[in-house]
Amino acid sequence: MGLFSLFSSDLAIDLGTANTLIFLRGKGIVLNEPSIAAFDRNTKKIIAIGNEAREMLGRTHSDIAVIRPLRDGVIADFEIAEGMLREFIKKIHSGVVPSRRIVVAVPSGVTEVEKRAVRDSAEHAGAKEVHLIEEPMAAAIGVGMDVDGPMGNMIVDIGGGTTEIAVIALSGIVEKVSIRIAGDELNNAIIRNFRANHNLLIGERTAEAIKCEVGSAMPLKEEVEIEVKGRDLVNGIPKTVIGTSAEIREAMSECVQQIVDAIRQTLERTPAELSADILDRGIMLSGGGALIKGLNERIRLETSLPVHIAEDPLTAVVRGTGKVLEDLNHYMKVLIRSRKY
Ligand code: ADP
Ligand code: MG
Repeated sequence: MGLFSLFSSDLAIDLGTANTLIFLRGKGIVLNEPSIAAFDRNTKKIIAIGNEAREMLGRTHSDIAVIRPLRDGVIADFEIAEGMLREFIKKIHSGVVPSRRIVVAVPSGVTEVEKRAVRDSAEHAGAKEVHLIEEPMAAAIGVGMDVDGPMGNMIVDIGGGTTEIAVIALSGIVEKVSIRIAGDELNNAIIRNFRANHNLLIGERTAEAIKCEVGSAMPLKEEVEIEVKGRDLVNGIPKTVIGTSAEIREAMSECVQQIVDAIRQTLERTPAELSADILDRGIMLSGGGALIKGLNERIRLETSLPVHIAEDPLTAVVRGTGKVLEDLNHYMKVLIRSRKY
């Protein structure tokens, strides 16, 4: 070990549609913030990122925009996504030497151009060597699946913008399906429910809190009621209504069904030998959506397969990306070999 390796600041990054996490080699997870950026509309200069940008949501004047640049799983706003990533990396590096090597996990649906943009922003932030890995592969490594062996593994990563379903064997993704139905769509469904059934307008953060607290994919042992504050659509005045866990489940059910259908579709396309492996090993859920109450049971009922929830599902991707960073030679085969322009 040379002197430099002691001060090495190589990074692994989970550039998620909802959250960005950064893992510093030898140290672990050093950043976990929402993938949000605030910028000046006129100059497109980034003003704030992460938690700080989230605090500005809904509180800015007309010159400042606050957005989630990766919202739908692909890069919705290129320039801002790149700027946000660069600022996150800078934040880690204050006082440390810039990283030589960066591994970034990207949604499996990103285009060549988007991969190039991610690569470029990591390079602009000082990295000499940038590697990309697909999110479901990173999640599988993060939860400790044997991705190198011949046995098939199925991982379902439910994030904010996308649900990514992949069957992995021999260091590669054999079959994958990516749909734009995940946490954000569930929030939208909850917003629609309160508008249609209670004449109540609620914000995205309220909807998300309701989903996390009482949202479910199967009947609960004890159904609960929840007080929901919003604005009356008829007279515009703030009001409180009582919602039930049963109605929230009903509101979420169409999205949940679409996730289940995508899993079944992936299973149907999977080669028979690998299906047999999945029958033994089951399906692993990761990403924030893995925490939806009863989702594991629902998937088990509809597929007749064992379903496991990853330990700490929100950090699975960054932990897997970190493992790759720390043993690059071992994991060379799982990295995306994207073209250099
Ligand atoms: P991404 O990889 O797209 O950044 P994450 O894996 O970080 O997404 O997951 C974020 C999503 O998970 C959000 O939509 C959030 O609302 C949802 N989520 C987080 N915790 C819970 C929970 N306890 N129950 C249901 N959904 C949750
Ligand atoms: Mg993710």
